[in-house]
Amino acid sequence: MVRMRRPGMIVGYLMLLAALPLLGAGDQPTGAPQAGTGVIRQLSTAPPGAVILFDGKDLSQWRRTDGQPATWKIENGAMVAQGGNVVSTETFQDIFLHLEFKTPHMPQATGQGRGNSGVYLQARYEVQVLDSYGITIPGKGDCGAIYGQYAPLVNACRPPLYWQSYDIVFRTPRFDSAGKELEPARMTALQNGVVIQNNAQLLGATVGRQPGGLAGPGPLLLQDHGNPVQYRNIWLVHLPPQGSDTYGPR
Ligand code: MG
Repeated sequence: MVRMRRPGMIVGYLMLLAALPLLGAGDQPTGAPQAGTGVIRQLSTAPPGAVILFDGKDLSQWRRTDGQPATWKIENGAMVAQGGNVVSTETFQDIFLHLEFKTPHMPQATGQGRGNSGVYLQARYEVQVLDSYGITIPGKGDCGAIYGQYAPLVNACRPPLYWQSYDIVFRTPRFDSAGKELEPARMTALQNGVVIQNNAQLLGATVGRQPGGLAGPGPLLLQDHGNPVQYRNIWLVHLPPQGSDTYGPR
């Protein structure tokens, strides 16, 4: 069930994002953010107006990509990847998204086989989820990367088995009335309160996206890459176009 909260406080709440004190992320050790990176406390409580996609109880807001009921397991208030990718029933254009994820401990696995999953905005643009803890210079396939396009600005990963957060501001691409792209999608992302993507201009869709064009709203897709990655506390806030800006034709 979607719980809508009073929208009047959304803007004020998002302003808090910039005003919160420099804090780590609660009950678990933080990564090691480097000097010069923006570090703020991550949001963990859904604000008024948020659409709750997963509150730990059920998968009523999710389905498989073929439209069938989602098959992920719910365990200790988390949804666990298994049985294929899942997409949200909610679709969106510009949003602020919060979610938390936990990669499994897979000491024998390496590279893309180590706790792989992914968060696809509009089912088109993947922010990678992977156990990249301790990698000095993360690449375009590591955790926090916009897969294949932009490495994270800094490795903000916690170890496997620790909860981590993504806070993402996503701006959908703009098109003119003829459907020509005027402006690419953009993304700013924080991992565990650390800025890892700064208004990145996306270079089209990423590998593994759902088929189709780039115009119009799309769902959130969580990737099942064969590893039991967990997610919890997933919510988004729809952001309106600014001024005379529009999303373009749907
Ligand atoms: Mg992935």
